[in-house]
Amino acid sequence: MSTVVKKTINFKINGKDVSAPEGTVILEVANRQGFEVSNLCYNKKLKPFAACRTCMVETVTDGKKELVYSCTQPVAEGMEVKINTDETNRYNKACLEMLLVEHPLDCPICDKSGVCPLQDNTDTLQLYNGRFDIHRRNEPSIKSNPIIEFYLNRCIMCGLCVRACDETQGVQALDFHKRGMSVGIGTANDEPLDCEFCGQCITVCPTGALMDMTSGARGLAAMFTSTLTTCNYCSWGCTIDLQSKKGKVLRIEADEGYGVGINEGNLCAKGRFGYGIIHNEDRIISPLMNHGGEFKEVSWDEAIKTIAERLQSTVNRSGPGSIAGIGSEKMTNEESYLFQKLFRGHFGSNQITNLANLRAPYVNRFMLDCFKGGIQSKPVTELEHADVVLIFNSDLPSEYPVGGNSVRKGAVFTGTDIIIANPRDVVFKNEAQTDIRLTFTHGADLAVINRLTRIIIDNNLVDIKKAKTDIAHYDEWVKSLKPYTANESEKLTGLSDEILTRTAERFAREADRFIIIGNDILDTGQGEDILKALLNLSLLVHCGGEGSVSIYPPREHCNSQGVNDMGVTPDFLPGYQPVQNPSAENLADDLFGNCVNGKLKLLYIAGEDPVNSYYKASQVQEALQNVPFLVVQDVFMTETAQMADIILPTSTFAEKDGSQTNMTRHVQRIKSATLPQGVSKPDFDIFCEIADALGKPFEHDTVEEVQQEIENNVPIYKGLLPGTDSRQWPADSFAEKPEFQICPAFTESREKNGYPYRLQTNNSMFHIGSYTQHAKALVDVGPECFAEIHPEDAEALSVQEGDRIIVESANSKIEVPVKTSYVTTRGMVYIPQNWVDVPVNLLRNGEEGLVPIKISKAG
Ligand code: SF4
Repeated sequence: MSTVVKKTINFKINGKDVSAPEGTVILEVANRQGFEVSNLCYNKKLKPFAACRTCMVETVTDGKKELVYSCTQPVAEGMEVKINTDETNRYNKACLEMLLVEHPLDCPICDKSGVCPLQDNTDTLQLYNGRFDIHRRNEPSIKSNPIIEFYLNRCIMCGLCVRACDETQGVQALDFHKRGMSVGIGTANDEPLDCEFCGQCITVCPTGALMDMTSGARGLAAMFTSTLTTCNYCSWGCTIDLQSKKGKVLRIEADEGYGVGINEGNLCAKGRFGYGIIHNEDRIISPLMNHGGEFKEVSWDEAIKTIAERLQSTVNRSGPGSIAGIGSEKMTNEESYLFQKLFRGHFGSNQITNLANLRAPYVNRFMLDCFKGGIQSKPVTELEHADVVLIFNSDLPSEYPVGGNSVRKGAVFTGTDIIIANPRDVVFKNEAQTDIRLTFTHGADLAVINRLTRIIIDNNLVDIKKAKTDIAHYDEWVKSLKPYTANESEKLTGLSDEILTRTAERFAREADRFIIIGNDILDTGQGEDILKALLNLSLLVHCGGEGSVSIYPPREHCNSQGVNDMGVTPDFLPGYQPVQNPSAENLADDLFGNCVNGKLKLLYIAGEDPVNSYYKASQVQEALQNVPFLVVQDVFMTETAQMADIILPTSTFAEKDGSQTNMTRHVQRIKSATLPQGVSKPDFDIFCEIADALGKPFEHDTVEEVQQEIENNVPIYKGLLPGTDSRQWPADSFAEKPEFQICPAFTESREKNGYPYRLQTNNSMFHIGSYTQHAKALVDVGPECFAEIHPEDAEALSVQEGDRIIVESANSKIEVPVKTSYVTTRGMVYIPQNWVDVPVNLLRNGEEGLVPIKISKAG
């Protein structure tokens, strides 16, 4: 357990004094200390396996000499380790020699060439002339799935892919096949690979037996330019390696280097195979101006001049309150900073927001309340050392897949207890198994949290006296928990008090606790109260118990955190500093409503597609039809862009520099790997050019200078940019006296006659937002929207997997194929929201809470 401090072991490697925590294997220490030990099957994030037998070292402990495999042998006090002795070299060399008997010498067309441990080890051991006859395998390559090619002639049976698939991903799609000389790896019954397509197997494969076949680019790693940057999709913020050749990004690799980013080389399908958006022929190729419903290409000069003039004339005529902007959760920090500066600095308008903040401004308040109460949350790199992780209403493998990898690693190496609380019986497989499953009634989130809290208080599981003294509003708050009796809670949640008590006891015990909150809570209509309840629970154990609490609030896109940090919200200036002279009414709080009622005369949308992605679909359409002037800048022609007066083509993340901030406040670098495609420009350049055209250029107009300006003006970012180190911004300056927040008692959710099911939406495993629909590889593995229902509901409805159904709410209806799964509980319908041709948001259409729906078979 991480709360137990591990003993430090002192020993020697080749005469050098070294030390390491108890339990560390020799090879790990040798690697860190720069000693070269041959090995092919070790990976620091997997359990030791000793398959390749090439890492033999000599140890002497208490005068006793032994030959041991350094990948499995833990260090011992006073041990002397000898690396590369004649004896160990002879042994390691013989093992490697046998592997080379079968291995093809096709290095020029192998993806691992140049970064291949088999090549490295051959050189390390100076094995240039083998003694055995060569017997190459000659099996055809297997391409039975759209993404991963199996070329087993190169397989050295290190088992890394099988172990990564099992231990890191929890999927077990790969295994060893056959025995003896015919042994190999493959899928069950040699079926086509059907998995999460995370590609971890490609990363860990040392020899190119498993390859990314989406890019078609093959061969020598040295031929590629490598650019470390940050993934552009979800808010976990993984470091990715963009590999380019002749100015074109051809594939994405993971970097497993020590200390690079927060993801230890783990990626998901989106991060690894989503690069298809970069060199994509669907991109907007020119600035476009709408002439009576027809878009005509215009020059950048004309587009920028028109926007600047229209902004200025609108403000001159109707005042700064007549313009508003929606920033993007995908723009860099520097771009977001300039966007808000353009509105605030040039026009005195505070009417800027982002879509997540528009729907759920309480998420920022929740984060600040956590800091206020002293819960600053540990860096995400500590997650794998957690004692307890509570995954609340998040389908982790779909929502934050690499977060799932860290939690699994904790379960394997630290013994982390995993508690999953979700109305869906989400799949989260791991070797240690999930400790507690709270599959509760859809919409009963508040009751679950408040009952857990009450159990902790009633059973004195923490120091209640201390909590009462330290945290304001204690008595009032405890009174508000009164309705959450065992009986009432069981009725509301469908969970026994026994399992809730077990959960409360586990959570209250001395521990390093982490809470990961999913975006599903936003659909409940009680998101704000759910967050308050989670905060109360956390404050109680934080102040009254021992150990720590870290909370990661729900954030969706790659820079959903940074866009708020940079002040693209009407509530805060950059760094959550108070807005000076806030106007009585900020029209950005009801931005689309104020376009409909004519108060807003100009709307500037940078990199978002609210027509598709916002939960008030009809209101957005009406707003965009009514607002007199609409500017949209984006990479692809979205439905929102199609309604614009002017469209500006922007560059993707791979064509720009700057930084973004992940959901756990890690500021990380964005680095360009290719030039802006076509005539597209980074959003940064566009904002600078608009400022120039207004006759008031920004004082700073390079990314580096703006980073300096941010560091000067935003205290929490001081010393963090350009973000190459992936450091978490500090929250201690927000600390005040903690206080409990009173939530209203649980109210029964509405039933609607004739609408017996309830809708749940989120992103699918292979898609997020609108961009991934343009990445071919992701479309290949996630081609179609679906409505997931419980098999018993399907039976009751007389529908089968693949049948088309009509899903209808009081607001709208959509047609979609059925998928049956025990993940979705009875009465619930889960539909991912990533397909333009299935406008799920129309079913909600602004309605808060769990939308009642009905289902019928399509005719
Ligand atoms: Fe990108 Fe998120 Fe996947 Fe990491 S988990 S690779 S950040 S989409």
